[in-house]
Amino acid sequence: MDLNDTPELAAYRATVRAWLEANQGRAPENPGGQQEETPEYIAGRRAWQAELTKGGLNGITWPAEYGGQGLGPLHQVVANQEIGRAGVPGILDIIGVGMLGPTLIAHGSEEQKHRYLGPMLTADEVWCQLFSEPAAGSDLAGIQTRAKQASDGSWRLTGQKVWTTNAQFAAQGLLLARTDADVPKHKGLTMFVIPMDAEGVTVRPLRQISGDAHFNEVFLDDVHLAPASEVGPVDGGWGVALTTLLFERITIGLGGEGFGWRADRFAHALIEDEAATLDPQVRHRFGEIATDFLALRFTGYRTLTTLMKGGVPGPEGGMAKVTTIRAAIDAGELLADALGPDALEEDGWGKLVSDLPGLKSAGGTEEILRNLVGERVLGLPPEPRLDKGVPFSELRAKERAAAGAS
Ligand SMILES: Cc1cc2nc3c(=O)[nH]c(=O)nc-3n(C[C@H](O)[C@H](O)[C@H](O)COP(=O)(O)OP(=O)(O)OC[C@H]3O[C@@H](n4cnc5c(N)ncnc54)[C@H](O)[C@@H]3O)c2cc1C
Repeated sequence: MDLNDTPELAAYRATVRAWLEANQGRAPENPGGQQEETPEYIAGRRAWQAELTKGGLNGITWPAEYGGQGLGPLHQVVANQEIGRAGVPGILDIIGVGMLGPTLIAHGSEEQKHRYLGPMLTADEVWCQLFSEPAAGSDLAGIQTRAKQASDGSWRLTGQKVWTTNAQFAAQGLLLARTDADVPKHKGLTMFVIPMDAEGVTVRPLRQISGDAHFNEVFLDDVHLAPASEVGPVDGGWGVALTTLLFERITIGLGGEGFGWRADRFAHALIEDEAATLDPQVRHRFGEIATDFLALRFTGYRTLTTLMKGGVPGPEGGMAKVTTIRAAIDAGELLADALGPDALEEDGWGKLVSDLPGLKSAGGTEEILRNLVGERVLGLPPEPRLDKGVPFSELRAKERAAAGAS
């Protein structure tokens, strides 16, 4: 691919840069990797997302009929780069706009699209993703939250979700539930929209080592959902979930630089300490990290090329995620080693460094993504599976029997 802007992209970049220069005074302070999630900070980020939307810098790849800009992934990358360059925060609701909105566009009814997508773009309604459960993360199709339909078409929902990012201030959620336990586990799932203020929904924050609480446990106690709350076909939720997971990979893949884990940012921190920059070990370790980030940029270009040709990015997205997080963790460790405890003060790198290891699990764990590469790139045999063709309701007994036999 040609790495220079085409004339059209250069013109787009100029427009984005001009808008940011004119409007960045209204942006909340950008704490970089740190996230102080006070209500005022969140309110500021929501207002800024609304501004970005008004300025055409949000929903860039969404169709125009749903409030998007109808542009391509390259425009998204240019906008991300310019937002990073201006030093202002991007949108608050990356999960909504990057993953759940595209899922609604692909599988939702026209009524759902017109009701939900506009307020999602402006952050009037922030969204959360209610997929993972205490006993179902990597094995997502093993979820146990149940939804039962009444004769009037409404639903009753009972179960528990966990690690739900942003549920503490989300207005809506996209939730995967089991609607038929008598068929194999991937076949009896349905996706729903759930208002987070519905009776029976309890959100409890989970405090992280950094002191923040970005994610939550969500308890669902006989929650009533109106008829037509399902997204896509009843019992066809697995296909809908795969769409979300695909967009999760693309969002992470295209957003890497926007997350602020760039080699130059770490380099700037190291330069503050002259002795560190002269230390051959520090230089060697930094060289390796910078090489990883460079390789990631080129892997990102491969993903972009695939997207622009109308293809679906493959396992390289998973590998890029594994490498990004590893490189950022290595960089955090290098900063801690080279700059000492001062670098990890409250307003320093401490939060970023303590947040990063958790991200090895988010969006697919390192082991699962490596398995994917093993199977789909290296052609290794797939993992043995006990669940093929077995109704979900009989699965536990079969697993117990297998465990007893071994
Ligand atoms: C920061 C963060 C934000 C998150 N946000 C959300 C969110 O908004 N919504 C949501 O639904 N979920 C969210 N998650 C949950 C995330 O999707 C899960 O953590 C992830 O899918 C892993 O599931 P688990 O935590 O249950 O771990 P498990 O699946 O129980 O895995 C535990 C360990 O076993 C390993 N393992 C499991 N199966 C295999 C296998 N077959 N082969 C080899 N190793 C294996 C894993 O790699 C891992 O090391 C978030 C997680 C984090 C850390």
